[in-house]
Amino acid sequence: MGKEFEIVIGLEVHAELKTATKAFCSCSTAFGAEPNTQVCPVCSGFPGMLPVLNKKMVELAIRTGIALNSEIPEICKFDRKNYFYPDLPKAYQISQFDLPVCKGGYLDIEVDGQTKRIGITRAHMEEDAGKLVHQGDITTTPFSLVDLNRSGVPLLEIVSEPDMRSAQEARAYMEKLRSILLFAGVSDCKMQEGSLRCDANVSVRPVGQMEFGTRTETKNLNSFRSLEKSIEYEARRQMEAIEDGEEIVQETRTWDEEKQVTRSMRSKEEAHDYRYFPEPDLPPLKISREWVNTIAAQMPELPEQARRRLVEEYGLPEYDAAIITLNPDYLNFFDQCISSYKDAKLVSNWMMSELNRLLNQNNMEIGECRFKPADLVKILQLIDDGSISGKMAKTVFEEMFNSGQAPELIIKEKGMAQISDESTLINLIDGIIQDNPKVLEDYKNGKEKAFGFFVGQIMKASKGQANPGVVNKLLKERLSSSEM
Ligand SMILES: [Zn+2]
Repeated sequence: MGKEFEIVIGLEVHAELKTATKAFCSCSTAFGAEPNTQVCPVCSGFPGMLPVLNKKMVELAIRTGIALNSEIPEICKFDRKNYFYPDLPKAYQISQFDLPVCKGGYLDIEVDGQTKRIGITRAHMEEDAGKLVHQGDITTTPFSLVDLNRSGVPLLEIVSEPDMRSAQEARAYMEKLRSILLFAGVSDCKMQEGSLRCDANVSVRPVGQMEFGTRTETKNLNSFRSLEKSIEYEARRQMEAIEDGEEIVQETRTWDEEKQVTRSMRSKEEAHDYRYFPEPDLPPLKISREWVNTIAAQMPELPEQARRRLVEEYGLPEYDAAIITLNPDYLNFFDQCISSYKDAKLVSNWMMSELNRLLNQNNMEIGECRFKPADLVKILQLIDDGSISGKMAKTVFEEMFNSGQAPELIIKEKGMAQISDESTLINLIDGIIQDNPKVLEDYKNGKEKAFGFFVGQIMKASKGQANPGVVNKLLKERLSSSEM
C-alpha cells in the first residue's frame, strides 16, 4: 500500500433507559413477553392518541448527562422524525432534534497505557420502534410479522465526536460508556437483548490531511467484537477503494456477522430527509436547576471514582482497578470480599484469573454466579491456615463455581483436606523412616537424595494430602534427632 491512512471513527450509541414503563404511555418495558402483549393505543399509533411524558425517562437522561460531564440546558424539546417503515405505526418517531437534553461532554479511555479524552457531541431522548420478525432471511422472507412490545420504549442516543482513531479505541470507548451507564444505573446495557446498540461512522484520510474523508455508517452493532471487527473491515475496504482510484459513497451499511464483511444497505439519508418538526403534542420541557442539582447530589459512585478508590485505598495496580470497575456487579463482589479479607491484591488475582476464566468459559455474568463473595474468602482462608494447598484451592473453586456448594463441604466430600497437624505427620514420618533403615543409613552417610525419597514416600502414604512445607520441616527435625 502506497499511502499511509488514518482512520476516523465516531459512534452513535442507543441505550435503553431503565424505566418500568414506556416513554409516552404506561405499557410495561419488560423484555421477553409474548409479542404484542405490552401495547396500547398510544404506542401502537392509533389516530388521536396523545403522548404523556415519562418523568423517569428524563431523570435517567439527566443522570447520564451528569455522568458524561455534559451541560443540561434549561429547555429541551421533542421533535417528530418522519419516515415510513412497517415497525413504526405512527410513521414518525418522537425524538429530539435541535434542543437535546444533554449537550457536550466527554469520557476518558485507556488504550496501551495512555489516557485519551473522547468528546461527546450530545445525547437526546427518543422512543424505540417496534420489531420485525422475518420468516428466515430478510432478503428471501415470504412475509414478516410485527411485534410492537418495543415500540415506545425510551432510548437515549449518545453521539460522540469523531475522536477515535482505531477499532481498539472505539471498543475502549464503548466499554467505558457501558460501564458508566451501568454504574449510573440508567440502563441494563444488555447488548444481546438489544438494550445497548451501536452505529459506527467510519472514514479514512491520508495522514496529514485535515478534512475528513467521506464516511459510511454501519448500523446495529450489538457486541464489542462485531464493533471492532466491522470497523477494521470497513476501514480496510475504504483504503483499498481509494488506492484503486474509487470514490467512497456516503451510505448506510450493515455488518454480516457470518461472512465478517460490511454490506451496502442504502444511500445515507440526511437530516432534512426526515422532515423534523416540533412535536405539537408535547410542549417544550423546562428542566429546573433544583431538579438537576438534586439528581447530581444523588449520583452513585462512577467508574472513575471507584478506580481511584481501589488504587489509593487498597493499593491495586491501575490495570486491576480498571478491570474490576468495568462492571458494578464485579466491583461489588470485590468490595464484599475485602470487607472480610485484607489481601486485596490476592482477591483481585483470583477474580481476574480463576473467576474470569470460568465466567468466560460458561458465557456467564458475575451476577449469575451460584456462590457468594464470602465463599471465595473462605477458600483463601483455608489456604492461609494450611488446610488446603493452592492447587487444591483451584479445584475446590471450580467445583464451587459449577455446583454452588460450600467449599468446606466440597473438601470433605472429596476428602481433599491437607494434613498440617504435626502429631499426625510425625507418626507418619516416623513410620516411613523405620520402614526404610537402608535409606536412613544412606542419609546419615550424606546422600542428599535420601531426603527426597522420604518426602516422596510420605506424600504417597498421605495420598498427596500432607502439607509439603510442614513435612519438610518435621522430616529435617526427625532425621537430626537422636532417636533415629
Ligand atoms: Zn403503550
